[in-house]
Order: sequence, then C-alpha cells, then structure tokens
Amino acid sequence: MGRLGTRQGGPRAQTTEAVHVTPSRNEAFNQWLAETLPDPEIDKDPAWLSPQEKQWFEEIFDGNGQLPAHRLAEVIFSRRIQLAYAALDLLKAHAAGDLTTDLGELKVFSNRDSEYEPTGEVEIHGEQVRTLIPDAAMVTVAAAVQAFVADTIRRVWPVCGEHRYGLHPILTPTGARWHCRPGSHAIPLPGRAGRSAAS
Ligand SMILES: [Zn+2]
Repeated sequence: MGRLGTRQGGPRAQTTEAVHVTPSRNEAFNQWLAETLPDPEIDKDPAWLSPQEKQWFEEIFDGNGQLPAHRLAEVIFSRRIQLAYAALDLLKAHAAGDLTTDLGELKVFSNRDSEYEPTGEVEIHGEQVRTLIPDAAMVTVAAAVQAFVADTIRRVWPVCGEHRYGLHPILTPTGARWHCRPGSHAIPLPGRAGRSAAS
C-alpha cells in the first residue's frame, strides 16, 4: 500500500503522521536549551535559570535560531558586558548627586579567556557580573560602587535620609532596590524597574 493510501486510512495513519510532526517552537527551544547550556563552552544547568533568564534565552532563540554553544557563549559574554556598562553609567549618575568624588576610576573589566568562567568574566571592583538580567546586574554593580566608595574615600554611600543608616542593594520582584534594614523599607535603584527582563 502506498503512503498516500495509508494516510487516508484509519487510526494507524494518524499515529504515523503524529510521529513526523515538526516540533513546536517551544519544544525546539527547550531542546536547544537542554543541549546547549550544559556544553563545556557554557557549563550552565538549564534547571537553575530564573524565569527572566529563560525569557532572555527565548528572545535569543527567536532572533537567532539554534546557535551553537560557542556562539551562544559569545552572546552571553556580550550581554554581561552591556549590562555592566549600562548599570555603571546609571549608578555613576545616581552617585554624582551625593558624592563630589569622581568615580571615573571605577571601570568594567572583562576577560573572555577566563579559566574559571567558560563564558568569560565581567567584573567591577571585585564583583562578578554573572546575571543576564538588568535588575540583577544593577544590584551587583550597586554593591561594587558602594564598595569602591567605601574603599577609596571611606564613606558610607548611600545613606537613608530618614534613618541615617547605610543602604544595601537587593533584588525584589519589582526590581532593584536600596534596602534600609533598620527601617524595613526600600528605595528604587535607578532605571529598569518594571521593564521587560530583556529590554
Ligand atoms: Zn530608612
């Protein structure tokens, strides 16, 4: 019996057709992620991705298709550098209102050939930017700026205007915040809050 005859036949033909169906976009995405992230060139466990990180990988997949691991590693490295510079620019402007000191010496360092991080290291004043999400990068870079200010001019920055204690950067479901522990309240960090994870 020819293939056409089988397709027009009973339930068995339907089963055959289902096997040959093209994987859906979601199936193709999840398969690509499961195969590519554990590759030694990336060495990441897909199970540990936050929903925002997974969304970022979805946008990479939709825009570029099934990138091989070494190409995806480059995209991840570039993303971290971009997030680090964007957060540092916003924080320098944020700090300029409070501090007269020039933060120009505070810079982003990147090393694609790190032996510790297969996708490359992106670092600011000892803080490693490992995230792919703007709000999380803002928290990391805020901690770096804070440490830089403490180390170079021996100042606590920023300070809560109400409680007079030093604030700490934290990530909340609604974005990056300066958290005041004694007052149990939070002040937004600059930029990004409420925007798409990949914007
Ligand atoms: Zn406070």
